Amino acid sequence: MLKKNALYVVATPIGNLNDISLRALEILAHVDVVAAEHTQNSRHLLTKHGVKAQLIHVHQHNERSSADTILSLLSAGKSVALITDAGTPCISDPGALVVQEVRKQGFTVIPIPGANAAICALSASGIMHPHFLFYGFLPAKSGLRKQELTTLKSYFCTLIFYEAPHRILECITDMQSIFGPQRTITIARELTKLFETIKTGTLEEINAWLQADSNQQKGEFVVLVEGAEIQEKNQLSEQAQHTLKCLLAELPLKQAVKLTAEITAENKNALYQLALELKKLGEC
Ligand code: SAM
Repeated sequence: MLKKNALYVVATPIGNLNDISLRALEILAHVDVVAAEHTQNSRHLLTKHGVKAQLIHVHQHNERSSADTILSLLSAGKSVALITDAGTPCISDPGALVVQEVRKQGFTVIPIPGANAAICALSASGIMHPHFLFYGFLPAKSGLRKQELTTLKSYFCTLIFYEAPHRILECITDMQSIFGPQRTITIARELTKLFETIKTGTLEEINAWLQADSNQQKGEFVVLVEGAEIQEKNQLSEQAQHTLKCLLAELPLKQAVKLTAEITAENKNALYQLALELKKLGEC
């Protein structure tokens, strides 16, 4: 049942037009107004699914005026759906300011989940580390990009980036110089589309592969960088590593880490990172 005076934040496909939920289509067909980043792109999607909607254009470069337009519609008792060109609104896409203003004014915001390129890529990567950091787009200028990469270099979790085709090579080259040539990455290109490609290798290998085939530099990219090696684990004593391995064989991870820290008085965070690594490697 559709709610009046509500803003629906609706995820749309990232390539394959069938990747849209039944609920999303129902909402788009029944709201009073669909506010879209580009009406022409969205019209194509809606027509494909037989949805007739009143589309209005929201200005991606002037979110405040978009917020005002949407607020006046909500104040007049209308229901509004917010969509972007692809994927989930507000994720490296416009919408957050609109959502913030709408919530501030006391109207309901209802998310309609669906496609997202980062999660789609992660789900097909086979990366086993349980934690990830979604970064989105790195700075366009190499100096700033390298600065950001230097900050991220020692993170243990998987790092997820979005990248445009004209910058993919420079981006991978900068990653190689900051993270080192042996760091493993996965490149997910043109997900859900005709030339979908998912490739894993070291930064050195992926760089060479991209340079060898300019077709692989075309389209849309998600880059997943595996987390930093566990350096603290080398600082743990032999006894602590042995105790942790024994306890991990018998107990859940958190409990094994807690007990090892109590028994050996070693750094709990380092033990936790080592435990994750051991689980990932299937050594316990
Ligand atoms: N809101 C979208 C989402 O939920 O994923 C992201 C929009 S952002 C403006 C566009 C970027 O997302 C692209 O430059 C690319 O990095 C990534 N992306 C979007 N669709 C993709 C696809 N089909 N394959 C790979 N990456 C994609």
